[in-house]
Amino acid sequence: MVAEDEGALRRSPDLLHLHEAVATLFATQGDWRRAYQHLRSALDIARDGSLRDALTSSYNRRYLDERLYGPFDRQPARPLGIALVDLDRFKRVNDTYGHLVGDRVLRRVADLLQEELPPGGFCARYGGEEFVLWLPGVDARHAVRIVDAARLRVARHPWSELQPGLRVTISAGLAHEGADAPAPPERQLRSADRLLYAAKRAGRNKVAYHDAQSTQLITHSE
Ligand code: GH3
Ligand code: MG
Ligand code: MG
Repeated sequence: MVAEDEGALRRSPDLLHLHEAVATLFATQGDWRRAYQHLRSALDIARDGSLRDALTSSYNRRYLDERLYGPFDRQPARPLGIALVDLDRFKRVNDTYGHLVGDRVLRRVADLLQEELPPGGFCARYGGEEFVLWLPGVDARHAVRIVDAARLRVARHPWSELQPGLRVTISAGLAHEGADAPAPPERQLRSADRLLYAAKRAGRNKVAYHDAQSTQLITHSE
């Protein structure tokens, strides 16, 4: 299973090199049109790779920053939910089982987070053991359901098949902005960060968000 994951990560560079080699071959034969087509394909693969995280294959911080701080005329469409997700006590996983197991856990969590996102949604590795879920076109209650379902998928995953005794949970802070006078996305991310720490303080394995009517903090657990 793990070997397959790692093979998938290597596939794109292989394809990139293949397109490069074929382009060179066509160029030596003077077939510039075909050489150009293969160089274009190589460029597309390289561009996609520059926006992906090498460990998890999810989008990376560069892609997220492009979406967050893109040109003013391309501000993200609303409504939009932004959730900041952090693995609970992950240092302990590394300390107990080693960094290779920690890496496998990160890959699998990324896969679980990417299930059941709304159209146009994505998961990006924010850094370390933190991920952002980008949830466009859903109202506040729907966004909460999506993030809480992701939390449950992680909590219920059969982690002990990876390592006997292993348990993994996540905490998340979710900030949602509707269509009326939405906060800039970077402010929304800061708000998700504050809520994440509230979820941690409340005991972990929780989603924290602001209720639509009040600014009361609500947490869910299993
Ligand atoms: P908390 O519940 O408060 O978030 O506790 P924590 O242990 O998850 O948080 P802390 O910030 O103390 O530790 C985060 C750990 O994540 C430490 C670091 O070694 C690990 N980590 C970050 N990136 C990677 C990675 O790419 N691979 C592995 N194996 N570990 C990583
Ligand atoms: Mg962290
Ligand atoms: Mg953590």
